[in-house]
Amino acid sequence: VRLVTFSTITRLGGDDPTLSPGPGSLGAAGLGLGAFEDVHHGAHRLGAILGEGPRTGAVVDLNRALAVKLAFADAGAPEAEADVELPSSSLDFVRHLPGSLDAARRALDFVTDSLARYDAPDLVAAGIVLPRKEVRLAAPLLRPGKIVGVDHNYPDPAGERDGRRDSSQPVLFLKPPTSVIGPEDEIALPAVTRCVDYEGELAVVIGRPASRIERDQARSCIAGYCVANDVTARDFENTRGQHFLGKFCDTFAPLGPALVTADEIADPQDLSLRTQLSGELVQSARTSEMRFPIDEIIAFASKLVTLEPGDVILTGTPAGVGAGQVPQRWLRDGDVVEIEIEQVGRLVNHVRKEKPA
Ligand code: ZN
Repeated sequence: VRLVTFSTITRLGGDDPTLSPGPGSLGAAGLGLGAFEDVHHGAHRLGAILGEGPRTGAVVDLNRALAVKLAFADAGAPEAEADVELPSSSLDFVRHLPGSLDAARRALDFVTDSLARYDAPDLVAAGIVLPRKEVRLAAPLLRPGKIVGVDHNYPDPAGERDGRRDSSQPVLFLKPPTSVIGPEDEIALPAVTRCVDYEGELAVVIGRPASRIERDQARSCIAGYCVANDVTARDFENTRGQHFLGKFCDTFAPLGPALVTADEIADPQDLSLRTQLSGELVQSARTSEMRFPIDEIIAFASKLVTLEPGDVILTGTPAGVGAGQVPQRWLRDGDVVEIEIEQVGRLVNHVRKEKPA
């Protein structure tokens, strides 16, 4: 299942096609700052992307779909029952695995079956099946728990980044949950830094508490996968002994577009990863090249902390970051960073320079 967090878009000023919700066009409006205040977003909901049939790419409101299915089955209080089985936030969803995944599958099967039988105009009218252009996607986990990053986890022939390359254990760091943005949000370059870099990465979302576990149990603790960009201000990384400082700014953890549940990915250690910076291919690798594979990272981290459902692990970035280019290539106002991981998805974020206060 490809889980998304979405809100519906309502155009208060009528159906003006020039207000199409392309990436980057809603930033100011979303904050109520711009001239385009006739766009309104509803509450965040848990959805799934339809992967087949004539409505491929449409978003299904999973909780409401399950409520309708339960109503057809004459359940006593279908909405209450749907709320119990299938939370409307992705964080609650991963905390209620595996039951929530089973409920999501039943809701999705109900919708795809209805679409196949009679095209289900009622489900569309009720806002249970939403055309892609009528929703805005947020990060699949709006506010995860811990975000654990791994440094130097791919071969680095050019020696792009300093130090600790020979470590026999994973080099970990933390990013705060406040750094997370979604697939339609902009990366904001803080006024205090000139050296902001991209890092295309496979993100792993934890779905079961993991404490002191062995490698062979690690895979069973994974809820799913996303594409991530571990945005880093190089001039604040490794300064004054504070490794985390370059990692923790607002908007520095784009995640998305979907949380692809673990059952959809046969082998997370055999996926291609490609990053394009404003149309130029800059990173191209396979997850099989990781120094410390995912199960080893989870086992190692779990000896120190309890990994909880909703925690995220950023598994490291391959060679090709801007710091390794000659001359070094930092993110600029107007850049577009596009990261694509096979079977997981394509994450595209526009870059904007923050205005000095
Ligand atoms: Zn990284």
